[in-house]
Amino acid sequence: MSSNGFLETVNRNFDAAASFLDYPHGLLEQIRVCNSIYKFRFPVRREGGGFEVIEAWRAEHSHHKLPVKGGIRYSPEVNEDEVLALAALMTFKCAIVDVPFGGGKGGIKIDPRKTSVEQLERITRRYTAELVKKNFIGPGIDVPAPDYGTGPREMSWIADTYSQFHPGEIDAIGCVTGKPISQGGIRGRKEATGRGVFFGVKEALADTELTTALGISPGLAGKRVVVQGLGNVGYFAAKFLHEGGATIVGLAEYEGAIHNPNGLDLDAVVRHRAETKSILGFSGATDLPSAAALELDCEILVPAALENVITQENAPRVKAKIVAEGANGPTTADADAILRAKGVMVIPDMYLNAGGVTVSYFEWLKNLSHVRFGRMEKRFEETSATRMLRSIESLTGKQLSEAERKIVVRGADEEDLVNSGLEETMSVAFQQIRAVHRRFPKVPDLRTAAFISAIDKIAVSYMELGIFP
Ligand code: NAD
Repeated sequence: MSSNGFLETVNRNFDAAASFLDYPHGLLEQIRVCNSIYKFRFPVRREGGGFEVIEAWRAEHSHHKLPVKGGIRYSPEVNEDEVLALAALMTFKCAIVDVPFGGGKGGIKIDPRKTSVEQLERITRRYTAELVKKNFIGPGIDVPAPDYGTGPREMSWIADTYSQFHPGEIDAIGCVTGKPISQGGIRGRKEATGRGVFFGVKEALADTELTTALGISPGLAGKRVVVQGLGNVGYFAAKFLHEGGATIVGLAEYEGAIHNPNGLDLDAVVRHRAETKSILGFSGATDLPSAAALELDCEILVPAALENVITQENAPRVKAKIVAEGANGPTTADADAILRAKGVMVIPDMYLNAGGVTVSYFEWLKNLSHVRFGRMEKRFEETSATRMLRSIESLTGKQLSEAERKIVVRGADEEDLVNSGLEETMSVAFQQIRAVHRRFPKVPDLRTAAFISAIDKIAVSYMELGIFP
């Protein structure tokens, strides 16, 4: 199926959820449509001589809260429909996890794997300059982040380019998130989306009503996991799911997939791929065509590469009990219906991969406050805890060992606070989605419940905001 179905899938999911709600048609229409999209082209010099015209987009789906927020994707397949779909998902995602932003998304039609670092820097800086010219970027306007094909390096170039155009703007580095730590990034952002996937799956598996319906035991221990895409989201999702007690039995990259029912050593696979340039041929594992990974026997399938990979063609053969959507839009609307009929539980993208935007929000707050989380209170907390501990020890006559004392009195640093804020966010959002699910017994799945939760919050926000003028 072509990616032209992605926006249609998002809109179909929206309409299914909206039918449960009693808001005026015009309001629902305003929530559904994209407010602005900037499509542009710009030239860059080719390294061997000559010029190339680059095609790019930035969509701002909803301005009910500002800034708008969403990643920038570098891919030869990126197109307007995809950017619009991803921007809409960002609006709903932010609402689900109570991040006070509207949704946005950007894309540049290039293949980062076939583009030199120097050329990538030129393209990224020129793209940023184009956004500056049209007022499509700024800490209070529109704040991009990494997505497929981009990472901290590109975010750093964006922040620097924006700053060149805004000398003296004290909040300039808040114009983009997902930056390296040295450039105002936050500890835990790189891992955040994958860690959020782990927290979300853990929440679902702790819900005995859901696990009973699926016919599996509660908890992660011993669950077999297959992950598609070993990039930022897929790698960290696999890592944290493994650390949480699951077994990674299958991994897929674009060149192929590997399977070992006894478990794969994730970091050894990553090393093998770095050395041989392929995931295939890993010791002890069976090689498979890439798409076959989606049909492996497992409890949890994590698509974490791109959209439209589970379609009406392969959905009947999916054996997983849970599809945990790390990627945006991996399941088409038709495939969703097939999975539902088979009793497969889909934990939807707009909830499950919201860890990235949640920690991006924390990074933005850090940038605006110009101080690292934990810096002011860590030592004070440790001193207070030590005093309290000494009092308890003198009252009870018992002493903790040095190792125990260290654990008890340790104050929270930036990463502790980020991870705990992320866990709380993912847990609260899951419970809100489940509450909607219970309130509307006819809601067929978690995705519809998540959309209802999001639409409801955005509708209230619009109604209380009023309309200008
Ligand atoms: P990434 O570029 O870091 O990694 C994607 C990986 O998928 C790459 O290793 C790529 O080689 C692999 N891949 C591509 N096609 C494949 C195929 N057909 N089969 C198997 N593997 C394939 O990208 P990412 O940031 O991890 O994003 C992945 C998905 O997660 C996207 O849908 C993105 O929108 C979504 N997402 C990302 C973030 C984030 O913080 N990075 C946040 C939310 C959602």
